[in-house]
Amino acid sequence: MKIDLNDLIKEINNVTKSLFRTKSVTQYKYYKETLLFLKSIYYILTGIEYKAYIPNNPYYEKFLNSKNDSLSTNIIEFYSNINLYNEITNNILKCYDNNNFYDLCKENEQRRIKERDYFELINEFLLSYDEKLLNFFEHIKKNNQIDMVTDKIKSNLTYGIIINNHLNKSYVLVDNKYTIANASTFIHELGHAYSYYMISNRSLSQSYNFNLSYEEFISDYFEFLFLKYLYKNHIYINDAIKCENCYYVYLKEYIKELNLYTIINIDNLSEYDLFDINNDFNYGIGCYLSLFMHDKYEKSKEEAINRLNDYMCYQGLIDRDEQLEILGINREDFLNTDILSKHLENHVKSLYKKKN
Ligand SMILES: [Zn+2]
Repeated sequence: MKIDLNDLIKEINNVTKSLFRTKSVTQYKYYKETLLFLKSIYYILTGIEYKAYIPNNPYYEKFLNSKNDSLSTNIIEFYSNINLYNEITNNILKCYDNNNFYDLCKENEQRRIKERDYFELINEFLLSYDEKLLNFFEHIKKNNQIDMVTDKIKSNLTYGIIINNHLNKSYVLVDNKYTIANASTFIHELGHAYSYYMISNRSLSQSYNFNLSYEEFISDYFEFLFLKYLYKNHIYINDAIKCENCYYVYLKEYIKELNLYTIINIDNLSEYDLFDINNDFNYGIGCYLSLFMHDKYEKSKEEAINRLNDYMCYQGLIDRDEQLEILGINREDFLNTDILSKHLENHVKSLYKKKN
């Protein structure tokens, strides 16, 4: 299970050629991003910068700057429903206070797991979800699209994901620490790869719109399912509880920031704020949506899987209300924090149990 450097270099060269040849703005933008991603993979794997020439075409660059990207899409969505998001974020924060939630994220020391056990665990979880997901994992594993990387670039952030649509290919890179926290990251990244795979037969112009979706939702959801799977089956349960705690901490932090933005006038936002809102929106709403989906999964696994598969096929082609409808969740459901409350209550109980 390793990414082949020679293959990677071949791909970098192919994408560079395509970037030179393309006559379309969409393709230009796509190839340019792909090239940067591929170069960053090379850097993560080797610690050396790959010197690939990136042609800058001023004609296309002009278009890129004027086009809406995922950043503005999320911000438009957020500000056109500002009252709704103000109420949702207020409700969520209240819910944390009511459940006396406390943060253990900083003391999240994790036990190391043997490499063999680690992948056995991942296999078991994927199979518990469905065979299709397990087969996908087996497929990209065989195809050298996964790498457990050592820390060559001396960075804590050694995992990432790349999509490479003209080859219908995603790469998953995760640091090789082999802990439960690290496995949940692995599942998160695999979730991205799986959702891209579901739209890999679309044309470039169609698949480019995937960022209209709740971008982090699917990967957050798989991550959460994984932690719940461990908890339910008493596998590495203490580490699973710690990771679940971090999941709720992140959810709370993203929502807290989003909540602040609901009372700031859009005209007073800096470029940094826009970047921030986009991030808070993707992760905060993604994590929150996952809780609703988990609830559906518990009630009827088959229905939840079918809904998610449909959702993945329509990513980016339909508007947000239609996406939520496919998932069986509506905006009003969002306002109700009963599901979050149930999770927090059980979680806090499990923390007390762990202590005593
Ligand atoms: Zn992600």
